[in-house]
Amino acid sequence: MNYCSQCGKTVSSKIPEGDNRERYVCDSCKTIHYQNPNNIAGAILTWQDKVLLCKRAIDPRYGQWTLPAGFMENNETVAQAAARESMEEANARVGALKLFGVFSMPYLSQVYLMFTGSLISDDIAPGAESLEVELFTRDQIPWQEIAFPVMSHSLELFFRFGADSGKVHHAWFSRSPDREVKIHFES
Ligand SMILES: [Zn+2]
Repeated sequence: MNYCSQCGKTVSSKIPEGDNRERYVCDSCKTIHYQNPNNIAGAILTWQDKVLLCKRAIDPRYGQWTLPAGFMENNETVAQAAARESMEEANARVGALKLFGVFSMPYLSQVYLMFTGSLISDDIAPGAESLEVELFTRDQIPWQEIAFPVMSHSLELFFRFGADSGKVHHAWFSRSPDREVKIHFES
């Protein structure tokens, strides 16, 4: 951040009085600009024994497969966000969504909230951010072409424990300097 979103003047990184970490503080109007993690809502959606995947039409990971997911918007619930992303990316209409996993990615300051649910119909079609959308059985999943580690781990957990394991999967991810991503289970 270089400029204040309130007044347009320069900002400096400093520890505000009474705080314990550096923030961007406006040199002019003194507004403190807090930066916090982003929430991403996503869904593992099934039709019979198949799971919906979307082939990304956007960077990063253009051309790779992912579960429908995206940043939450203001004024919506996390389940509404997951349903909206499913509609936007795959024109997928979903029934009730159930919380499946909470995955923290401290190295990206992101939190993924993944749901499971059933498609209301298999009438799906790519939205603006997808090249293709497709339903895959477990054996058909293109494991080598899944866009993000959080998505492959979500799929692995889903196929291992099912949608109704009786608990919400809770884990965090680390990334080593050589960019290897690992999952750590918390409960
Ligand atoms: Zn300012």
